[in-house]
Amino acid sequence: MTSLSAQSGLAGHPHFHYQDGVLHAENVSLAALALKFGTPLYVYSRAALGQAWRSYRDAIGDRPVLVCYGMKANSNLAVLKEFARLGSGFDIVSGGELKRVLAAGGDPAKVVFSGVGKQVWEMRAALEADVKCFNVESQAELQCLSDVAQSMGRRARVSLRVNPDVDAQTHPYISTGLKENKFGIAIESALDAYRTAAALPGLEVVGVDCHIGSQLTDISPYFDALEKLLDLIQKLDAAGISIKHLDLGGGLGIRYTDEIPPSPKALLDQVFERLQARGLAHLHLVLEPGRSLVGNAGVLLTTVQYLKHAPARNFAIVDAAMNDLLRPALYDAYHGVQPVVPRDGQTDEYDIVGPVCESADWLARQRRLALQAGDVLALESAGAYAMVMASNYNTRARAAEIMVDGDQYHVVRQRETLDDLLRGESMLPD
Ligand SMILES: *Cc1c(COP(=O)(O)O)cnc(C)c1O
Repeated sequence: MTSLSAQSGLAGHPHFHYQDGVLHAENVSLAALALKFGTPLYVYSRAALGQAWRSYRDAIGDRPVLVCYGMKANSNLAVLKEFARLGSGFDIVSGGELKRVLAAGGDPAKVVFSGVGKQVWEMRAALEADVKCFNVESQAELQCLSDVAQSMGRRARVSLRVNPDVDAQTHPYISTGLKENKFGIAIESALDAYRTAAALPGLEVVGVDCHIGSQLTDISPYFDALEKLLDLIQKLDAAGISIKHLDLGGGLGIRYTDEIPPSPKALLDQVFERLQARGLAHLHLVLEPGRSLVGNAGVLLTTVQYLKHAPARNFAIVDAAMNDLLRPALYDAYHGVQPVVPRDGQTDEYDIVGPVCESADWLARQRRLALQAGDVLALESAGAYAMVMASNYNTRARAAEIMVDGDQYHVVRQRETLDDLLRGESMLPD
């Protein structure tokens, strides 16, 4: 049995593996999918989604924890439907995401609405749907939300997103809990903001919320944040503002190379221990995991177009590009690369690059592979922040998405056509 290369997000993954020399998702050959649907192609594994879900469910046991999938990581309707079916709630950041949740049959009573810039129409839609809670990020938003709710004869349940000023020790673009970030209300101002909220007629204070960053591979920043939030909850209690739930956001990391990310169980056991110790065991908990539920449930298939041996580098020019998978260009991110059908022969060190006219258009650097034009590669760990960030830059149609389920597969998003791209545009009259 061929095995995955060393620096692999999928090392030991039960649902992506080689079978008879061909990389499979569950029991479906990725070579066959590439042949049938063309590339670039996103392929997800339903079993891998279920496995990630169970890692939370089993860690929770019968403790009062609501998992609200941070759906901006992957908002395909089939993914949402699957999580809804498993009992998940959703963390949304826009009116568009609310529409998706409702279309996928998600329960609005399990929806929390995050984001720094909620617009009036989005607040209205969420109040109409009667979502569980708004995670409010500024004093100005409190006022606006109260007005909107009042105009509809409702009260909005709110939680304030507090910025605990902790360093999540992750990439600066995905760190959100430092005081220089745009997110949340500074912890020093939180008591004041809660007083404002409690006094506003259109609001009902129910929670405290934070989200300190993404791809956390160390658990200690959560506990730095937790202690500050528990201090705040006790101060609020003394001020007569009682809190029902504590939302710790998302952020648990996944394996891209050789990381060993903390498990949901390690996080939850310690959180509940702290709640007990502080006499706050009555609090309900909300978690908003995104990446850790979907990141390693998907790969992006791409075909090698040309090999180019330049003096300083070898390039494998592939048919996927930064418009399909932006993470390398945006965050300098690492995605493992696996040949779908590994070949024997001479290996070279390649930069895997796309056809887009930008030097930032690279997908992987300095990977030792035996390649020929026409080979199909799988870019690993492409279930999160991948297709959702795809664009039409260079007038490239967005890829199709497939969901594998055992030995079956389903097209869960059709490949865009060039006609799709031109639709909606018009020229000036002659
Ligand atoms: C992005 C985001 C999440 C999900 O984060 P992951 O790192 O993918 O788990 C959760 N909550 C909020 C508010 C977010 O912005």
